[in-house]
This record gives sequence, structure tokens and C-alpha cells, in this order.
Amino acid sequence: VVEMPQKEDNKTRKRKGKDIDQIHEDLQPEKAAKLMNQEVDLDIPGDAQHYCIECNRYFVDEVTKKVHDKSKVHKKRLKELKEVPYSQKEAEAAGGLGIFPHIKNRPTAAKPDEPLIG
Ligand SMILES: [Zn+2]
Repeated sequence: VVEMPQKEDNKTRKRKGKDIDQIHEDLQPEKAAKLMNQEVDLDIPGDAQHYCIECNRYFVDEVTKKVHDKSKVHKKRLKELKEVPYSQKEAEAAGGLGIFPHIKNRPTAAKPDEPLIG
């Protein structure tokens, strides 16, 4: 079976693990700060000034972004990010195992998951 890289799988239920990993990286405070203060880039919607880190998307203005923040797409992404709280580093440490069964789909108990930093 040859697996083709496809971008048009947003209608399927396929989990985009790689994207999520990348976003966990982007959510690290240092990187997030940079992403939220990008230089003006006229080739990017909104001149790269209205970026949603979680969804890896640019918006044309703050209003559009705020609408997005309340959208299903965004909330779904937040949920996904919570469900898979491992970092790229940990994924690499797993040496290709890919997933950590014990922390995948952790039931949402009283405490929110604290990401391990450092
Ligand atoms: Zn978003």
C-alpha cells in the first residue's frame, strides 16, 4: 500500500497527527510569541498580523479572527490539541512509536493537563 500525501482529507475523520505535533511546538511560549508578532507580509492574508496558532491559519483582520475563535473548526482544534498532549520532543524520544497510548484520549477530569515544559 502506497500512502499518498493528501491535503484534501478535511472531510474524513483521519487524525492529522503531524499537524498537531507541529502546533504543540508552535504553542511553546517562545515560539508562540514570535508567531503572534510576525513581521508584516503582504503575501499573507491580513499581512500576517492575525494568526491563529492552533489552526495554523491567517485571517484578514481581527474581526474575522474573533469569529473564527468562536467557530466549530477552532474549538474542534482546541479539543484535539488537548487530547494529544505530547510534544514533538517526546514523539522523537519514542523512537518512531508515534503515539503514547497511556496519554491519548485522557478523560477530561477536574484538572486540566499541564504541559511539561523544560
Ligand atoms: Zn483557530
